[in-house]
Amino acid sequence: MMGTVNISEKTQALIGKEEKYGAHNYHPLPVMLNKGEGVYVWDVDGKRYYDFLSGYSSLNQGHRHPKVMEAFFAQANELTLTSRAFHSEPMSEFAEYITKLFKYDKVLPMNTGAEAVETALKLARRWGYNKKGIAEDKAKIIVCDGNFHGRTINIISFSNDPESNKDFGPYTPGYEIIPYNDIEALGEALQDKNVAGFLVEPIQGEAGVVVPEDGYLAKAAAMCKEANVLFIADEIQSGLARTGKMLACDHEFVHPDILILGKALSAGVMPVSAVLADDEVMLTIQAGEHGSTYGGNPLGCKVAIAALKVLVEEDLAENAANLGVYFRMRMRAINIPLVKEVRGKGLLNAIVIEHSNKDAASEICMQMMEKGLLAKPTHGDKIRFAPPLVITEQQIDECIDIITETLRAYSS
Ligand code: PLP
Repeated sequence: MMGTVNISEKTQALIGKEEKYGAHNYHPLPVMLNKGEGVYVWDVDGKRYYDFLSGYSSLNQGHRHPKVMEAFFAQANELTLTSRAFHSEPMSEFAEYITKLFKYDKVLPMNTGAEAVETALKLARRWGYNKKGIAEDKAKIIVCDGNFHGRTINIISFSNDPESNKDFGPYTPGYEIIPYNDIEALGEALQDKNVAGFLVEPIQGEAGVVVPEDGYLAKAAAMCKEANVLFIADEIQSGLARTGKMLACDHEFVHPDILILGKALSAGVMPVSAVLADDEVMLTIQAGEHGSTYGGNPLGCKVAIAALKVLVEEDLAENAANLGVYFRMRMRAINIPLVKEVRGKGLLNAIVIEHSNKDAASEICMQMMEKGLLAKPTHGDKIRFAPPLVITEQQIDECIDIITETLRAYSS
């Protein structure tokens, strides 16, 4: 037993080993997984679960999608890494495919989300100095309250979550934090002529799926254009069909000056991220001025092409849009005080739990785990629900039953 749930001896032993030898920078649910397929994962005792976290929205195509795995194995048998010191056929194909798909002049591939965000920030500063004419070392980037863009020292420098940045200072200067979803605050911040970019999550995932008001992104993008400031969308979590459109910005017909992608760009197979922009921005960085040994590696490029094709060919955005509406409707119908709010877009959703016990969300997740569904609380009282987008209506019905039963039992 661990808390109120049953944990097998095998799982306990493996958790013990991980805790002894692994750093303690995560607090996982006490489940020990060793297999995944589609919307399911299995633990070491053979128990099956629905995956409602999807690797923080990396597994939009589901675990081990056959077309992605086929591309992965085919390329793994040919060439996996060249470094960008040499050209590779897959990099050339990937660059053409992704830029045509998202309608940008160029792509800069990296590996993790945080690296792509760093790349976008470097591009924005470069553009600020070389094109906008900002004086040396004066460039400023506007960011939002509650943001999550990764874990590097530079990125946590503009986080206002003490869990992320306490005792990691000194912090990098050059950022101004304004409230999220606040057009007036953005207007004021844009008055400063040294602003090079506005970095924003179209929906704040880690903050607990905070959806801005309709029209916010379109207004913000228009104001940035007017002020000659780059609108930089971090779509690492919200993008790639998750919210019911290929990009969350598509809901408002916004084409960001810099687009940042990661996570589902490689369908959960390996780290692949990318920054997209037009020549005016992208060509401010030249040879030798930025890079990554694994960025744009042949294996990652082939996996990313296959991952993007699955999203398009299987119309996973449409499935996310339809099942998202249905999911929120059924969740709202639960109608108990324990569920203070249901929010989200497409299949990026969260509920806010109201309970005198501050561990309620965590305990609810443990009970859902017992019933065969894996989800994790974020920021204490919110539970995010983000299943793979290949989920069917019948499967989501089964999941809603598990969630509903657990919430009702907990509240009674
Ligand atoms: N940006 C957003 C919006 C994210 O949600 C995340 C990860 O959760 C990141 C950036 C960082 O990505 P990574 O963990 O791959 O560095």
